[in-house]
Amino acid sequence: KYMTGNEIRKAYLEFFKRKRHLQLHSFSLIPENDPSLLLIGAGMAPLKPYFTGKLVPPSPRVTTSQKCIRTGDIDNVGRTARHHTFFEMLGNFSFGDYFKKEAISWAWEFLTEVLELDTDKLYVTVYPDDTEAYGYWHTVIGLPEERIFKCEDNFWEIGEGPCGPDSEIFYDLGPERGCGKPECTVGCDCDRYLEIWNLVFSQYNRTAEGKYEPLAKKNIDTGAGLERLASVIQQKESNFETDLIFPIIEEVITLCHGDYTDPQQKVAMKVIADHIRAITVMISDGILPSNEGRGYVLRRVLRRAVRFGRLLGIRQLFLSGLVDTVLAIMGEEYPELREHEALIKKVINTEEKQFSETLVQGMELLDSLLAKAGTAKTLSGQEVFKLYDTYGFPVELTEEIAAEQGVTIDMNGFAAAMKEQQERARAARADVAAKVLTPDTTSLDRQTLQYAEGVTTATIVMLGK
Ligand code: ATP
Ligand code: MG
Ligand code: MG
Ligand code: MG
Repeated sequence: KYMTGNEIRKAYLEFFKRKRHLQLHSFSLIPENDPSLLLIGAGMAPLKPYFTGKLVPPSPRVTTSQKCIRTGDIDNVGRTARHHTFFEMLGNFSFGDYFKKEAISWAWEFLTEVLELDTDKLYVTVYPDDTEAYGYWHTVIGLPEERIFKCEDNFWEIGEGPCGPDSEIFYDLGPERGCGKPECTVGCDCDRYLEIWNLVFSQYNRTAEGKYEPLAKKNIDTGAGLERLASVIQQKESNFETDLIFPIIEEVITLCHGDYTDPQQKVAMKVIADHIRAITVMISDGILPSNEGRGYVLRRVLRRAVRFGRLLGIRQLFLSGLVDTVLAIMGEEYPELREHEALIKKVINTEEKQFSETLVQGMELLDSLLAKAGTAKTLSGQEVFKLYDTYGFPVELTEEIAAEQGVTIDMNGFAAAMKEQQERARAARADVAAKVLTPDTTSLDRQTLQYAEGVTTATIVMLGK
């Protein structure tokens, strides 16, 4: 049965509302009171205090469609069919209420009765010691033994907080999608067995010291990737051809008069479509480009998107022009995107313009350095720092471009050069901040103010220029 991405999200939330879950709006990408996380990367992350008992949840059962950022997956974007830096995670949660049996039965019911997925194509994994979960899959659901795999990896955690054994659900896309290796099976990194849903039976609390304490109440935390479900239901080659993302790619094709069947162009187009989604949601949640923390993540993703645009032959500023398409797809579910439309476009334009001014010269320098790298095959910390400081090349970008030519970079040398520069900037910053800002504005307010008012001296100093 065909469903749009928006319909799948809605069907999921409605299904769990019928199972007496309270639907909460997606939380911001900026974690609240959680120094162990830079950005929200899972549906459970903003709910941690409810799991640990620190706060009383508004309902013992909650369901969300959570905006997630995982920059750890950035190198996979466009190279696997299933990874994004930004994606939507559908989740149902139990705070000391239902446990394994219901979580497993409802996941199965949703996949096979609501989405009508072919039951013969579904496989699951469980933690080897978890005979309980194994039992439910086998006896309650009736899944044959050869479709249940025991995996050591099936233990889920993110920073501090609730964690525990999990059970993952995979969809077999068929042998033609596999790597063809004889050992290829569920859990293989290739595209054949697609992990669509993870059910986490969170029964421990991981402390800051890395200890695992049993939780007083046992919880359920699940996460299903919306884009992956859409790729299965819409029978697409990857998440990128689903109606959640492909309209952005079509825009890019028009812009560069490109060819989506060319493998290199295809990767570049997927990267841009992925990154503009991430950029849009990050800015709408109040993140602004900077040289540290979340702002650096945004800057890095944005500059990487600009570079891939250049690789496709796009010379003009183009990123903010893609925002309308992102809003058309996601604006209804996430009204905060439309609310901040003007700010999103302005921030993107300012940042893209700034980087475009130095990108060409920076690339010339980098190309000549790479040509000179010779047998050493390493760029020095000073060289990498110059690209960073003078030409605005995020170190990861330099690293990536160098790696394309088999050259590594001296990270320690770069870190040392960076530290020296930061010490110089700190003194200057204190000086300017005192003149421009009142002492009681928060750091985010300050950045927002500076952007609203255009790029001020304080911003420039903040950027380390
Ligand atoms: P994978 O093994 O494919 O990298 P994962 O095990 O890291 O996925 P989980 O941490 O279990 O993923 O997250 C729960 C669900 O969120 C996954 O089953 C998947 O559907 C979705 N998901 C995870 N990472 C991504 C990503 N980078 N892009 C899109 N969807 C994702
Ligand atoms: Mg992963
Ligand atoms: Mg996995
Ligand atoms: Mg998983």
